[in-house]
Amino acid sequence: MAKTLRFLLGDQLNIQHTWFQEQQNDVEYVLMEVRQETDYVRHHIQKIVAFFASMRAFAEKLRQEGHQVIYWQLEHPEQKGSLIENLQHLIQKESFNKFEYQLPDEYRLDEQMRAFCENLSIEWQVFDTEHFLTERHFLQHFFKNKKTYLMESFYRQLRKKYDILMEDSKPLSGKWNYDAENRKKYKGEVPIPTTLDFRKEVSDIVQLLKNQEVQTIGQIDLENFNWVTSRKEALQLLDFFVENNLSYFGTYQDAMLQEEPFLFHSRLSFALNIKLISPLEVIQKSVAHWEQNQEKISLAQIEGFVRQILGWREYMRGVYWAKMPEFAQKNYFELENPLPEFYWTGNTKMNCLSQAIKQSLNTAYAHHIQRLMITGNFALLAGIHPDFVDEWYLGIYIDAIEWVEITNTRGMSQFADGGIVGTKPYVSSANYIDKMSNYCAHCFYDKKKKYGEKACPFNSLYWNFYEVHREKLSKNPRIGMAYRMLDKMEADEKQKILNQASHYLADINAL
Ligand code: FAD
Ligand code: SF4
Repeated sequence: MAKTLRFLLGDQLNIQHTWFQEQQNDVEYVLMEVRQETDYVRHHIQKIVAFFASMRAFAEKLRQEGHQVIYWQLEHPEQKGSLIENLQHLIQKESFNKFEYQLPDEYRLDEQMRAFCENLSIEWQVFDTEHFLTERHFLQHFFKNKKTYLMESFYRQLRKKYDILMEDSKPLSGKWNYDAENRKKYKGEVPIPTTLDFRKEVSDIVQLLKNQEVQTIGQIDLENFNWVTSRKEALQLLDFFVENNLSYFGTYQDAMLQEEPFLFHSRLSFALNIKLISPLEVIQKSVAHWEQNQEKISLAQIEGFVRQILGWREYMRGVYWAKMPEFAQKNYFELENPLPEFYWTGNTKMNCLSQAIKQSLNTAYAHHIQRLMITGNFALLAGIHPDFVDEWYLGIYIDAIEWVEITNTRGMSQFADGGIVGTKPYVSSANYIDKMSNYCAHCFYDKKKKYGEKACPFNSLYWNFYEVHREKLSKNPRIGMAYRMLDKMEADEKQKILNQASHYLADINAL
């Protein structure tokens, strides 16, 4: 009798997939917790726990719906260590005569699965994950022969294609982009919404990781593990977001506030990335809510949110498939420095970094601007090798899967791709950080000083960055202003700033 094994990765928990629409007696699904995945980078403990808890809940859901499921926990006696060896063993042992899997989102796994199937002696087939709004290579075709991939034109194309916030083939109210109205500092004008409570019992998984000596980073508070791990919870989180956070999402999306990690952000990235929920349903639900509440929620808010998911998320995936595997080697500025030790502890006198890092270690979360303009900004100013920066981002965040991590980190944040994702590097002095947060008000360093006692390191490192990379950046029309300012500086003033930067760089762990 024909017997099919259908394999699911930990980020392929899409219950709406056509695979699950009917129960088939000759099909068995397999999910596996494997050392290969816990160990390819050192992950945050909450990230592994969230993955395993979601995979276990998904397997249970499939069983409840009448599907046949094989689930191997990490300590399963037949574990061989790698996915491939496990699958080979299972196929032989259970005499499966057909193997099916869904397209992995990650290049590493895509290659591994392809090689595995090429050597299989039984029939095999690969399926789409039915999650994204664009095909893997859509962006590559859209920008054929272009050096830079402009997110804005890609986003507009998708707005048209999916008819989102459109009217007679034009953007609603005539404007595509509301960035200028959004992105304000938060000064307590409106209360910050509470976060929904998803706390659950995960001590068995934590104990398992301990028993198996899996190396992790960050903390987990067993009383307060608060990530969604099922579709039901993901839908509740989405409902909560549109009701409570959407009205100010755009306004405060770039704001940072001491001890307030989530502000008006959705926290949906993990649920989206493991496919508990689909980008289209997130967009449609948010737009429908906005349509019914236009007196309370401005177009700028909903456009700002749609832009993140329809625009940035699909765009990053497209860049990934257009540019891998070369993308993972890019180091445009030829940087070499190691990551400062305080990235693993948060123990630095620089309050912005201390806050963003400690929060990341405690929650496995930081919002976009903390990742881009605090930890990412500093890493670039400090000349850290992009491999170390990627390793840190890939490990520490709950939502970090390579396709969306590396494009944001190496591309957008570190400009290591030389300008595929962004048109200029995202670097700033204390000025921007102070404009968008209350970090500087609580800092040991003086945000106004460029050199001398307690001078904010961001200030001298910022000018040093432009000076050091003059050859690569000075012709970039978007950076002309910085070079004009640098060149207008008194020679003595400039030298003091550069000396201060050298002094800081010489002993970065002391900052
Ligand atoms: P919200 O602010 O509520 O945004 C809504 C959704 O939009 C997110 O859930 C996410 O799915 C999507 N989104 C927003 N910005 C981006 C973006 N730039 N790229 C892709 N999707 C986006 N996101 C990840 O999912 N995984 C990562 O590993 C990751 N690494 C990042 C590294 C750096 C250096 C930077 C600057 C950004 C990174 N991002 C990553 C993007 C973004 O920071 C997170 O998606 C976001 O902070 C998740 O929190 P949220 O769900 O509350 O997002
Ligand atoms: Fe960060 Fe400088 Fe502000 Fe301190 S003064 S919080 S180091 S930007």
